[in-house]
Formats: sequence, structure tokens, C-alpha cells
Amino acid sequence: PPLLIGLTGGIGSGKSTVARIFQILGIPTYFADDRAKWLMANEPDLIQGIQSTFGEEAYLEDGSVNRVFLAKEVFSDPEKVKKINALVHPAVSKDFASWASKQKSPYVLKEAALIFETGSFKDLDYVINVSSPLKVRVARVLMRDTHRSEEQVNQIIDQQIPDETKNEMADFIIKNVDNKLLIPQVLKIHELLKSNF
Ligand code: ATP
Repeated sequence: PPLLIGLTGGIGSGKSTVARIFQILGIPTYFADDRAKWLMANEPDLIQGIQSTFGEEAYLEDGSVNRVFLAKEVFSDPEKVKKINALVHPAVSKDFASWASKQKSPYVLKEAALIFETGSFKDLDYVINVSSPLKVRVARVLMRDTHRSEEQVNQIIDQQIPDETKNEMADFIIKNVDNKLLIPQVLKIHELLKSNF
């Protein structure tokens, strides 16, 4: 079976950008945040769990997730955030494990903003942290997401484990700073992982 590799990093660190480089090298990559959204709308057990916890209002007439309602529910209620995470994270873990077991590759990647925060690193063989200075991250996100204010970006950053701590917890660090090239750093890790250590 493939090695299971986590690819994480704070908001704006560049983890999606790094994931795309691994994809070009042919490495199967699971985008956990996108997949979580898909599962919330399509996985019957998860839908049932969300409906029984948050009520029928959690879904719209057409069966899609009522994001406005759920956002209001969890906004400033840490207990409700915990509840939704306790439903979604196990569903993603299960889906990832099933997906990974079907891949033919020396290793696969799970790209996710929260790997240390959710404890999902325990099910992975190694974790790569994409690390960038705070100022650079805020500037990148403000450029990319025109709907987000600097205050909102800082609020998200405050909810995530600090980058320095993630670097200590990670097995590999990719520094995504303007003066460092990404591709050579990715290739170095790829060479190590593709031989399965
Ligand atoms: P999020 O947690 O919000 O999903 P992310 O960690 O996946 O963020 P990316 O989307 O990969 O981050 O990068 C954030 C933005 O910064 C993107 O617009 C991306 O194109 C840009 N970016 C990332 N790395 C670089 C770089 N080395 N040089 C220039 N632009 C970059």
C-alpha cells in the first residue's frame, strides 16, 4: 500500500500550490477540504448526522448544504464547531483511507489545512508543513480572496496552530518564501518518498 503523506500549512502558506507540483509528478492527491464539502452534500450517513444534530434546516430544498444557516449556527459557538467537526472529520478520514487503498503509487498526499488540529496526523506516515512568514501569507490571501478582510484573515490564523509549532511537529518542511524555489524542495522530498524510504 502507498505511504500516507499529509500536506498542510496555515492559510495562505501555499499548500495547494505545492500539492499541484506533486500532482504534476504523478502523485495521487486528495484535497480534504473540497472533499469534506462534497461528502457533506452526498454521503448519506454524514447527511443524517448533520440533520439530526442541526435540524432539517441544515439542508436546502434541492438537497444542497445550507451554508448560510450552518455558518450562523457555528459562528461564535465553539461547542457547535466541535459538533460539526466530530461529524465531518471521521467521514473524511474514512473516505481518505478508502481512496488511498485504491491508489497505485509509492505514496499519496492528503492536502488539508487542519492535520495537526484534527489529530488526523496520527493516521498518516509523515507530514509535510508548508511554511511561510505571516506577513506574506496575509498578503497572498488578500490578493487571492477579494471578499476577505485583513481582520478576517487574522481571525482564521488565530484559530490555527502557529507555524513554528507545525514545523516542530512536521517530518518535512517546505519553505515557501519568495527567495526559495519550490520545485527543488518538492523534488527532494519526492525522491525520498518514492523509494518508500
Ligand atoms: P488556503 O489555506 O487558504 O487554501 P493555501 O495554503 O492552499 O491556502 P495557496 O492557495 O496555495 O495557499 O496560495 C495562496 C495564494 O498565494 C495563491 O493565490 C497562490 O497562487 C499564491 N502563492 C503561493 N505561493 C506562491 C509563490 N511562491 N509565489 C507567488 N505566489 C504564490
